[in-house]
Amino acid sequence: MTERDVMPFDVVVVGGGCAGLATAIHLANLIEAHNGKAADENKVTAEICLIEKAAEIGAHSISGAVMDPKGLDALLPGWRTMEPKAPIEAEVHDDYAIWLTAKGGTKFPITPPPLKNHGNFVISLNKMVKWLGAIAEQKGIQVFPGFPGAKLVREGNTVTGVQLGDSGVDKHGQPKGNFQAGGILSGKLVVLAEGSRGSMTKQLIADLKLEGKNPQVYGVGVKEVWEVPKGNCPPGLVVHTMGYPLDSKTFGGGWVYGMGQSEGDKNLVSIGLVVGLDYRDPTMDAHRQLQRMKLNPKIAPFLKGGKMLHYGAKSLPEGGLYSMPKVFGDGFMLVGDSAGLMNSMRLKGIHLAMRSGMLAAETAFACLQKGDFSAASTALYDQKMKADWVHEELWACRNFHQGFHKGRLAGLINAGFATLFGGKGTLWSDGLKSNAGHTYMQKVGDYFGGKTPDGGKPKHDKLPEDGTLTFDKLTSVYSSGTMHEEDQPCHLVVTQPDLCSTRCVEEFGNPCQHFCPAAVYEMEDKPGTKHGVDLKINASNCVHCKTCDIMDPYQVINWVTPEGGGGPNYTNL
Ligand SMILES: Cc1cc2nc3c(=O)[nH]c(=O)nc-3n(C[C@H](O)[C@H](O)[C@H](O)COP(=O)(O)OP(=O)(O)OC[C@H]3O[C@@H](n4cnc5c(N)ncnc54)[C@H](O)[C@@H]3O)c2cc1C
Repeated sequence: MTERDVMPFDVVVVGGGCAGLATAIHLANLIEAHNGKAADENKVTAEICLIEKAAEIGAHSISGAVMDPKGLDALLPGWRTMEPKAPIEAEVHDDYAIWLTAKGGTKFPITPPPLKNHGNFVISLNKMVKWLGAIAEQKGIQVFPGFPGAKLVREGNTVTGVQLGDSGVDKHGQPKGNFQAGGILSGKLVVLAEGSRGSMTKQLIADLKLEGKNPQVYGVGVKEVWEVPKGNCPPGLVVHTMGYPLDSKTFGGGWVYGMGQSEGDKNLVSIGLVVGLDYRDPTMDAHRQLQRMKLNPKIAPFLKGGKMLHYGAKSLPEGGLYSMPKVFGDGFMLVGDSAGLMNSMRLKGIHLAMRSGMLAAETAFACLQKGDFSAASTALYDQKMKADWVHEELWACRNFHQGFHKGRLAGLINAGFATLFGGKGTLWSDGLKSNAGHTYMQKVGDYFGGKTPDGGKPKHDKLPEDGTLTFDKLTSVYSSGTMHEEDQPCHLVVTQPDLCSTRCVEEFGNPCQHFCPAAVYEMEDKPGTKHGVDLKINASNCVHCKTCDIMDPYQVINWVTPEGGGGPNYTNL
């Protein structure tokens, strides 16, 4: 058995996104404020650490992003005047929505209220997170980038720590010369802030049966940042799109955000598309859909004469209130996207992630004072959430995503009711039932009307992929800065590889080739196999979006953390 160093902490936070950093910063603030007034014998001391799998804090963070400042106002009330300055790209000054069609589109006469963004800010999440990371370090939090949490350490149902990933293991699983066994960070409390479809969170939810009324449903967002000539898209302009290129049975929508000047004097635009990961088309390809969206005459002018600088992709939880798992237990709490805290009607989760981190910090502080970290004490987190604007906001749109399972029209009417009447207006007040997203994918034969097109190969219209406005996946992946140590075990663990070259070819036409936005999965020719093809996994392309773990129709792909520091290197996404 591998010997592992054990490092004791009071609170271990897993994930250096806005939820994890808000947890750590607020806890440090609470302790500092308390100790400033308390008698010596009542002072609270706590060793807090935060681990992040990216090589640097922020390097795996990607979002749209228009930030509702509510979360940051609560966390750091003086942020508007702080030095160094908070990284705000632009204040929103104008917003509108467009209904796109194949040949153009129509501007909505009014901006639907959930998409109104005056008073909000266009940001780059990875810059915001980097800024928060520096604040956490100043507050004495031990921040460890480059350290993935591989496995939770448990005693029965009690979480007692986190085992870090090993490094220096070759692709056959054998230790190399630089082998280092991942240590164990023991914690009285572990806060899981892994974001969407966290690998340890997923396991914990399954093991302890924490799943909510509905399983979580997700979307995948694909995004590019462009340098464009001044005047193409003013800073602080927020445009949301619906309709094309998605069909009426596919949930999702796009955006164009004017970021203003950044990276020297470059004039930048954020453009992206979210596709609900409960689609039917087995050949759905979000990357390709984004390329198609950019060709639309209402969208192309924003990018005219410009250059794509950055690309990234990531999943996001979209199920809302009824898909939230139980967020606390013995020795643990779930925050941010790991807790399913995303308002998909507004495409906003940053403020909810920050606020949930604060509420978890307040609970952690109460636990430290009591010396009790059991579920009886961490339940306070749930109570706080239910009494907070976090719950109020999610309750108001609680059936939003599920409403679209009844068709686009029903979904839009339901969203209209929810907007007009707040939480009282949803068409289905007690929560619509929905299933895990992959179960909605249809078999190739069914989707394409009884015929398997091209022997399981996708039926795709031709895209120019001209390298100027539209790109192939490999070019996009290059723009994400993604790198992994090549000689390491594959972190995309296919538990039944035989399925890929047999049933999956026949039934779903190997949808992994399409749904992965980073060209990780490829069906290569392999004489001697049933269909002459076999799966090749280009793991080093992986941008850590987790789409494969979510959308594989047989649920045989398990995304686990690769060696620390591997993955995308986002700088302005
Ligand atoms: C394409 C897209 C567009 C969006 N647009 C908007 C928007 O405009 N406005 C808005 O408010 N919200 C938006 N959101 C949602 C918002 O980005 C999220 O709700 C928010 O980032 C959640 O924060 P988090 O800290 O919970 O998770 P994350 O931001 O995902 O952070 C999680 C962190 O944990 C790390 N991590 C994961 N697992 C481990 C592990 N095992 N060990 C160590 N580290 C780990 C990850 O590397 C990451 O850094 C968007 C999301 C996407 C994907």
